[in-house]
Amino acid sequence: MSAPTDITSNPIDPSLAIQKEHLMPITPRPAICFVEGKGDYLYDQSGKAYLDLVQGWAVNTLGHSPTVIQQALLEQSAQLINPGPAFFNKPMINLAATLCSHSVFDQVFFANSGAEANEGAIKLARKWGQLHKSGAFKIITFQQGFHGRTLATMSATGKDTFAPLFEPKVDGFIKVPFNQLDATEQAIDKQTVAIMLELIQGEAGVIPADPDFVKGVEALCKKHNLLLIIDEVQTGIARTGSLFAYEQFQIQPDIMTLGKGLGGGVPISALLAKKHACCFEYGDQGGTFNGNPLMCASANAVLSTVLSPEFLPHINSVSEYFQQQLHTLSVTFGLGEVRGKGLLLALDTPHHSAPLIVQKALALGVLLNAPRENTLRFMPALNISHAEIDLGLACLTRILNDTQQAASC
Ligand SMILES: *Cc1c(COP(=O)(O)O)cnc(C)c1O
Repeated sequence: MSAPTDITSNPIDPSLAIQKEHLMPITPRPAICFVEGKGDYLYDQSGKAYLDLVQGWAVNTLGHSPTVIQQALLEQSAQLINPGPAFFNKPMINLAATLCSHSVFDQVFFANSGAEANEGAIKLARKWGQLHKSGAFKIITFQQGFHGRTLATMSATGKDTFAPLFEPKVDGFIKVPFNQLDATEQAIDKQTVAIMLELIQGEAGVIPADPDFVKGVEALCKKHNLLLIIDEVQTGIARTGSLFAYEQFQIQPDIMTLGKGLGGGVPISALLAKKHACCFEYGDQGGTFNGNPLMCASANAVLSTVLSPEFLPHINSVSEYFQQQLHTLSVTFGLGEVRGKGLLLALDTPHHSAPLIVQKALALGVLLNAPRENTLRFMPALNISHAEIDLGLACLTRILNDTQQAASC
C-alpha cells in the first residue's frame, strides 16, 4: 500500500476510528480532535468551541496561540532553531539570566519536560551527596506527591497507583505523609541527602502545604545539612499568583524545578540551583534538545508578559473572584471545600462524581479537570477574564441544577 501523497491534508474521520488505531492508548481520549486554539477557546474538527479551563494541564500560561508566542516562534525559527546543546545561544543565555535575576537561584539547566527537570534535580542532589555528604543518596518525598513519569520520578512520586508499576523502582525515595513535620524528621538518616516537595500538590487534588510545615522542612534541611528541592513544575511561572510559589512561603530552596507554564505551551523545563548546590561536572548531565533557542524564545516571551507590572495583580484579582464564586456554588449546591492559590484552584464535590461532571461539561463545551473522584481542578490561562470565568461557572451551575432535578424526580 502506498502512503497518502499529502498527509497534512488527510481528512479527519469524524469518528476518529481509523487514525486512533496507530496511537498507543495511554489515556481515555474523547472522540474529538482539536484543530485550533485562540486564547481561552479550543475548536474541534466540526468547528465547535470549547472554553478551556485546563489549558493543556496548566501549560498555556497566556492561553492558546497568544500573539507574543507566535511572534517569538516565528522570528526565532527564521533566525536559528537549534545549534545543538554544546553551544551557547542567545535565547538560552537570556532566559537563564531572567530566571536567576527573579529568583534566589544562581544557575539553570534547561530540559524538555517536568519529569526531566526533576530527574536532573535528583541527579544533582545525588552528586552533591557523593561530593559533600559521604555518598548520601536518599531523598525524602511525600505521599500523594507527583514528580513525573520517568522511572526515577515515578519512584519519587507518592501516588498509590504507581507503587506496583514497572518494578523494580529506583531505590532511595522515602515517602512520608504530607504536612507532617515529625514524620519527616524521623525519616532522616545518615544516607539522606535531600527533601523534595510540591508547595501545592497539584495532581493530588490541589493540596496546599502548611506554611509552618514548609518553614519546618527548611529548618530540618539546615539542621541536617540536606538540600531542599521544591518541585514548582505546576506552581511556577505565576500560576499561584507570585512568580514562584516559594516566595509566598518565605523560604529559600536550594533547588527548584519548572516545567508546564514556562514555555506557554511548548516543551521546555528548567532545573535551577543555588551556587553551593551546582556541582555537575562535564559529562554528568545533558540532552540533545536542551536549551534550544526555539523553546527558550517562547519561554522568554512568556516571562516578559508575566513580568509586566499589571500581570500578577490581574491573576490575584481574578483568583479572588473565582474563589468567591466557587464558594457561592459550593454553598448553593452543598458541595465541599474550595482550595488553592492564584489560578490553581479546586472544588470538592463530595456527593458528585467529578469525572462525570467533566464529561458533561465537555458535551456543553467547557473543559474541566478532575484530579480525584470528588475534586474538580481549575487551571485556566493566567490572563483569563471575569467574563470567561462566569461562563465556566454558568456551565457548572447548569450541570449541578440538572443533577439536582434528576435526583428529585
Ligand atoms: C506535571 C508535573 C510533573 C511532570 O511534568 P511532565 O512535563 O509531565 O514530565 C512533575 N511535577 C509536578 C508537580 C507536575 O505537576
